Amino acid sequence: MEISANKTWNQFVVKKGNKSLVLDMIKEYAPLSRADIAQRTGLNKGTVSSLVNELLEEQLISESGPGESSGGRRPVMLLFNHIAGYSIGIDLGVNYILGVLTDLQGNIQHEKKIYYKRISYQESLTQLFEMINHLISVAPPSPYGIIGIAVGVPGTVSNSGEVLLAPNLGWKNVHLKTILERKFRLPITIENEANAGGYGEKKFGAGKDYNNLVYVSAGIGIGVGLILNEKLYKGRNGFSGELGHMTIQAEGRECRCGNRGCWELYASEQALLLEADKAGIQPSKADGWTLEDLIEEAENGNEEIIRLFEKTGDYLGIGLNNIINIFNPEQIIIGNRMALSEEWLMKTLEQRMVSHTLWFQHKDLHIDFAELSTYSTALGVSALSVERFLSVDVSKKILNN
Ligand SMILES: [Zn+2]
Repeated sequence: MEISANKTWNQFVVKKGNKSLVLDMIKEYAPLSRADIAQRTGLNKGTVSSLVNELLEEQLISESGPGESSGGRRPVMLLFNHIAGYSIGIDLGVNYILGVLTDLQGNIQHEKKIYYKRISYQESLTQLFEMINHLISVAPPSPYGIIGIAVGVPGTVSNSGEVLLAPNLGWKNVHLKTILERKFRLPITIENEANAGGYGEKKFGAGKDYNNLVYVSAGIGIGVGLILNEKLYKGRNGFSGELGHMTIQAEGRECRCGNRGCWELYASEQALLLEADKAGIQPSKADGWTLEDLIEEAENGNEEIIRLFEKTGDYLGIGLNNIINIFNPEQIIIGNRMALSEEWLMKTLEQRMVSHTLWFQHKDLHIDFAELSTYSTALGVSALSVERFLSVDVSKKILNN
């Protein structure tokens, strides 16, 4: 009995594996004919044909008109049905929420962003719920509807979706996954925003061609997402990447994490705004400086402010040197809000790196700014949700019609 049960289980696993393989092929290389798939995967034509039929029934792929053929009847081509469902990706920032509704290929169908100053835990939950409800309401009709909601959070997230600590949000032990599951009854993914951003850049942005990359999310704080050997590296419990809290100044400023001299206190958006305050440079608006104002001033040639950016770039370089020496990556991507000021950071950042990185670490190292700009996290987290949806056996997926 046991043997036959095992055999069935193995057949099931193999079939599921083959089906994912066929779907991945179509996702990646469509339009493809059944014969193309058989050739590329090495599966026999009968197997391909039956898996393709299942995928057609599940509406995850579609057939298009005939494609190119070298003589004879032209084969029917298969396409990935990227609008079989929609995914919601949220970047929950400290002073903003960005929400996107994407199709299954990561194309943005709809987006919304709201800004706010410091708000309470309850208020931020309310904003989050409103954002999700809004994105659900604008989703076009589709076979699977909303396939999942995913949120990138600037803090440490456990594998079970609990936000253990998000110092800049003021959150501690918030079981966000459970809260959203109860409210929306949909698959929920919670991820650290830098992990999500790194994944987004690897999948759609500046990191497409690299297998070992470090994504530095420099916003109000700093988080780091690690893609090692093509995979998002999360550590044993999902806590990797807290490099914003590495010490770069012994006896330095006090951090909300309880430590002193953390990198993010010197090289982030909050550091820059603090420096502007400390230097006594008067903001033109009553409610203080914003990063956008400072960039505008730098563009207008304000030397004092350009120097603040250069100082911040230098501190960014100090932390990057440490990271490079630990991971020996192929690429470093600087993303999130501070990437908006690339022009003003790059000079001192590069100077610091050239002068302090061990010479052999420099070889073939690429330093880039995020291509998806401020969308890296929202798109990355949305893509994680899509991947999860497509990897679940279809019997567990629920067709709307
Ligand atoms: Zn800290």
